[in-house]
Amino acid sequence: MVDARALRALGPKDHASSSLAPGTMSFECVNCHYLVREGKRYAGTENRNHCTKCLWSLHADLRPGDRKALCGGKMNPAGLTFKRVKKDKYGKEKVGELMLVHQCVKCLEVSINRIAADDDPVEIMNLVNSGFSVEGISVLDEADRSEVRRQLFGV
Ligand SMILES: [Zn+2]
Ligand SMILES: [Zn+2]
Repeated sequence: MVDARALRALGPKDHASSSLAPGTMSFECVNCHYLVREGKRYAGTENRNHCTKCLWSLHADLRPGDRKALCGGKMNPAGLTFKRVKKDKYGKEKVGELMLVHQCVKCLEVSINRIAADDDPVEIMNLVNSGFSVEGISVLDEADRSEVRRQLFGV
């Protein structure tokens, strides 16, 4: 039995819903059709470009958030990486922020994207040791699992 209220809540008119904060936008996921809400209130970042549930994206940005790419292909969440390692004030190397690696299924371009606050952590964990590899990016494998868990769950 489908809940009619739940269906309405996810309908295409949701953009205009008064329950959303002013300026909040949403888009339908190209992969799982979930209605993804954009904006800082939900994502913790202004430039959300992927689905919170399945992490798929659309090849629409040349630079994050600019929506200038004309490709329009779906972008597969291919793996994870850490943002470049930084040294802290004591000169000790610090592991960088966890990032998603997307690859366009149409043109094969790879992009690295920030994880949003409401992305499904279980889906992200599933990408550890995905087997994806690409020149120039150190894609995480089994050895990184505990650090990924620490960044996602704090344990
Ligand atoms: Zn999705
Ligand atoms: Zn593309």
